[in-house]
Amino acid sequence: MKIPYRNLSVSSEKHKQELLRAVSNVLSHGRIILGPEVSEFEKKAAKICGKKYGVGVGSGSDALYLALRALDIGRGDEVLTTPFSWIATYNAIALTGAEPVPVDITEDMNINPDEIEKNITPKTKAILVVHFTGRMCAMPEIMAVAQKYNLKVIEDAAQAFGGHDVYGKPAGSYGDLSCFSINPMKPFCAYGEAGLVVTDSLPLKERIERLRYNGMFNKELCNEPSINGRIDTIQAAMLLVNLNYYDKWINRRLEIHEIYKKNISELVILPTVKKEERHCFHAYNILVKTEDRDGLRKFLLENGIETKISHPVLMPDQEAYKALDSKKLPVARDIVKRVITLPNHEKMTNEQVYHLSDIIKEYYGVP
Ligand SMILES: *Cc1c(COP(=O)(O)O)cnc(C)c1O
Repeated sequence: MKIPYRNLSVSSEKHKQELLRAVSNVLSHGRIILGPEVSEFEKKAAKICGKKYGVGVGSGSDALYLALRALDIGRGDEVLTTPFSWIATYNAIALTGAEPVPVDITEDMNINPDEIEKNITPKTKAILVVHFTGRMCAMPEIMAVAQKYNLKVIEDAAQAFGGHDVYGKPAGSYGDLSCFSINPMKPFCAYGEAGLVVTDSLPLKERIERLRYNGMFNKELCNEPSINGRIDTIQAAMLLVNLNYYDKWINRRLEIHEIYKKNISELVILPTVKKEERHCFHAYNILVKTEDRDGLRKFLLENGIETKISHPVLMPDQEAYKALDSKKLPVARDIVKRVITLPNHEKMTNEQVYHLSDIIKEYYGVP
């Protein structure tokens, strides 16, 4: 039995027909650039995130870069963030000219709110939190520190669209600006690159709209340099279709988690999900002993099971950031050596989940 890490094909004929119809409509009306589907998507998506306004952008990377720019973050500023995320988080900060400063994480793989305060300097402008793997950070604690030091908060909710915390507050609902990637690997996905920024502030929304179009006003005047970072109308049209599906997809991932829990929770450390929170499981990151990681991955692969490591190198340890002071980060440095990302997606069958669990049992010599 082969188990791919992900399967990006659209397997339901009904779903595929809905997507094709959405694309066909756009091709017929011809408003290919910022067409009506874009604003409809922005409104609906913002509401799900608990915010007034949404701005569709070209990718999650664009969303982060433009959000930082809209908050006037740049050269000479420091932005506190996690060391453990997809590299786009660090890159977005660095591309504004600001310096990313890593704050250690806790066992849940999210930024440790108790470590934030000691990393604040007179240069600190903002906290960029990442809801890593699709589970939300401890936002009330983080918001309290931000308020105390007058820092901006940006949520990198790229992996957490549709999730909420134990207080029922949706991913994206806390930040001054909150950013989503909607690329094909994310739980809520387009069929190409796409991203979203949400906010309650009208001036920030309007600034992001200018920044996503080369800093242009009225299509004629430019008052600040920027990139072309617009979302495609065709992607927005397909995303409107997927808004009717993503809840089901997340539910399926949560179901798969329950099966893993029954079968392998004694052998490896599985992610914990509190009853009141909604974890999106963008990545199903388990922890094993450092000395077991390579052997277990190899054994799984020999049995047809693809795994990944999300992510094998801490961002501050990447070549690109070697020149910066990377700090001690004991928890992140331990976890990065122990993590394995198992397949957990809506296209997996129960048989596949049981089979994968059996192979892990076999590895550990458990009948
Ligand atoms: C995917 C991702 C991004 C970047 O999004 P793209 O759409 O690929 O540009 C940023 N941050 C996190 C946490 C991500 O998972």
